[in-house]
Amino acid sequence: MKTFVHRGQITKVVFGSGTRSRIPEEADALGCRRVLILCTPGQAGQAMEVHDLLGTAAVGTFTEAAPHTPVEVTQKAVAYARTVRADSVLAIGGGSTIGLGKAIALRTGVPQLALPTTYAGSEMTPILGETEGRRKTTRRLPEVLPKTVVYDVDLTFTFPAAASVVSGINAMAHAVEALYAQDRDPLAFLMAGEALESLIRSLPVVAQRPDDREARADALHGAWLAGTCLGTVGMALHHKVCHVLGGTFGLPHAETHAVVLPHVVAYNAPAAPEAMARIAEALSAVDAASGLFDFAGRLGVPRALRDLGMPESGIEQAAELIVRDGYWNPLPVQRTAVRALLARAWAGQQPC
Ligand code: NAD
Repeated sequence: MKTFVHRGQITKVVFGSGTRSRIPEEADALGCRRVLILCTPGQAGQAMEVHDLLGTAAVGTFTEAAPHTPVEVTQKAVAYARTVRADSVLAIGGGSTIGLGKAIALRTGVPQLALPTTYAGSEMTPILGETEGRRKTTRRLPEVLPKTVVYDVDLTFTFPAAASVVSGINAMAHAVEALYAQDRDPLAFLMAGEALESLIRSLPVVAQRPDDREARADALHGAWLAGTCLGTVGMALHHKVCHVLGGTFGLPHAETHAVVLPHVVAYNAPAAPEAMARIAEALSAVDAASGLFDFAGRLGVPRALRDLGMPESGIEQAAELIVRDGYWNPLPVQRTAVRALLARAWAGQQPC
């Protein structure tokens, strides 16, 4: 008999094509009368369109969202939110912009809406990562979960194919770790498997034809499910490795996930047979780890940490940090084994 605890999510999700037209009614349903829109400089055009949709309910646009949610950017945004007397925020973009929305919500208590445009999945999680100086800290706080998430497939067409594919593998990593999470539950297992199926089916098409609506919808569907997994169950060694590498060496977020995933799956394989079988089934592969490695190779994504700018001399330091303050993992995390895993990932070798 299975024994489990399932944590439900309270976020309202609207999914489809052209769904951004529903933003005014969704904002109204939350009682938002003075919405501050958030974006990166590169997505100011998409933010302007949302501003126009909201009409007088939009009180401003803050266009300075940045990777890893730097506290100084948040402070500037909070000051701007107070100046325009915003009663809510709407983040349009990827994990960087949604992270800013969460950080503002934490400091001001205003509700958030999110219009995700990547596959990172932050919109479905109560997780906030923030950077102060060179130090990134991550917390799980229910109050930072967006109230409403509007997925509009049409907003993802402009996300370049190469970036889309690595972002999709970032989503796959959330699903993979949900399959063997310490607190996994039957619903998370189902969602994770379905997320993998959707992403494995759609990403090769997105890579070839970034404006294929069905493939984009499939990928966004997988990203939603994978983000929900990340929001409901705990993560393990893979996410720990990526947090350490991103924080210590400034490696790019999604690419780091793409390189590391097959190696951590190989590491955990002996302790998580049910998860491995589900991953292999989704990939139509004999082995989960080599199947993931080959999948990444076929998509042309980076497969070596050295190609992302990590110095070989950093392997020892990273192994130390990963082991020192590790997350729960199905297999004990041993320094020598982690060092070997990092060395293979650094060189772009087959996982084993
Ligand atoms: P990102 O938000 O940094 O976006 C990358 C770049 O792509 C940005 O310049 C952005 O403007 C651009 N972009 C995004 N969507 C686009 C589109 N549709 N068209 C054109 N350009 C587009 O990248 P990300 O991978 O989504 O997010 C990474 C950040 O999110 C990291 O800081 C990571 O730690 C965080 N994250 C947090 C969680 C969480 O649960 N808290 C989950 C996943 C990621």
